[in-house]
Amino acid sequence: MEKILTVKTKDDLKISSLKRGEIHRLQIHVADNSLGVPWKVPVVIIRGMEKGKTLGVTAALHGDELNGISTIFKLIESVDPKKLKGTLVLVPISNTPGYLLNQRQFSDNVDLNRIMPGQPAGSPSKIYAHHFINKIVSKFNYLLDLHTASHGRVNSLYIRADIEDEECQRLAYLQNPQIIVKKYDEEGTLRSWANKNGIPAITIEIGNPNAFQHSLIDETLEGILNTMKFLKMIDGEVQDLVTNAAICDESYWINSTKGGVVDVLPGLTDTVKKGQLIAIVYDVFGQVKEEIFADRSGIVIGKNTRPNCDAGTRLVHLGISFIDPLPEEIPGHDEYDENA
Ligand SMILES: [Zn+2]
Repeated sequence: MEKILTVKTKDDLKISSLKRGEIHRLQIHVADNSLGVPWKVPVVIIRGMEKGKTLGVTAALHGDELNGISTIFKLIESVDPKKLKGTLVLVPISNTPGYLLNQRQFSDNVDLNRIMPGQPAGSPSKIYAHHFINKIVSKFNYLLDLHTASHGRVNSLYIRADIEDEECQRLAYLQNPQIIVKKYDEEGTLRSWANKNGIPAITIEIGNPNAFQHSLIDETLEGILNTMKFLKMIDGEVQDLVTNAAICDESYWINSTKGGVVDVLPGLTDTVKKGQLIAIVYDVFGQVKEEIFADRSGIVIGKNTRPNCDAGTRLVHLGISFIDPLPEEIPGHDEYDENA
C-alpha cells in the first residue's frame, strides 16, 4: 500500500499552477454549508508532461450513483502522468452533500443536474452548481459525465448524447455502450451546459445506483481510455467499440396507471415488440389489476425494480429506433446482475 498523501485545499482549480508529470489531489472549495465552512469537492488532476487537451470526468453528480467513482479510481491507476499529454481532471464525487446523505439530490433536495449552471446568488443548490461549474467544469475541453440509474431502478450501460453534433457523436462512439440514445439539450443538465459553452460532453449511464458493478465499470474505463487515445493524450490505437450497440432515436418511460404490486417482465437490453406484455400490476390480494403492453417496438434501456408502486410509477425505459432495426440481442454484455 502506498503512503496516503496530504491533500491540499484550494479555492479554485488552477491547472497551470500544477506541476507537470504528476498526480495532484485537491479539495476545491465550493459554497459554504451550515457549519459556515465550504463544501469541498475532491478533484484528482493528472497533469501530463506535454501540452494537450483537458479531459474532465465527473461522477456522482447524483449522490447515490456510485459506479463512476470506481471507474475514476481505476482510471487513476491506469494513467502514467509521465506518459500523458494534456490533463485529466477527475471528480469522483461531484455532489458531496448528496453523497454524504446517500441521495440523488443536493442537501436542499434539488436535483443539481436540472439547474445547471446555477446562480451566484440563489438557493443552496444553485450557488453550489454555480461554483462547481465556474471553479471546475469550465476548465475542461471535453466532458464525460458518469451516472447510473436512480434509486429503485436499474440501467444498462448506455450513452445520452446529441449525436447530430459531430464531436458529441464521436465521443459517444468512442465508448463501449450497449445502447446510445440521441438526446438534445436537456434543460439544466451539466451536459447541456457544457455543450452550449464549447465543451463537447456526453452522459454515460453505468448500470445501477448504490453499487460497484465491475464488468460495467471496466467497459466504461475501456471507453474512456479509447477517448484519451483519440484525443492523443495517451499512445495506442483507437478502437471502434460501438459496433454492437443499439442506436435509439428517442427514449421514454412507460408508466403504470394503477397502483399496486408490480412485476416488470423484460430484462435489460431485451427487445420488445409492439403489443408485448411488459408489466403486470396486482392488487394486494394477488389479483391482476392492470396489464401493460409496449406501445411501440423497442429496446429496454432501464427498468423499475421496486415492486410496490404508486399509480404513475415509471416501469420500463424504452428506446426506439426510427430507421435501423434494433439488434435482437446485444452480445458480450450479459455478465452482470440486474439487481446488483
Ligand atoms: Zn444521474
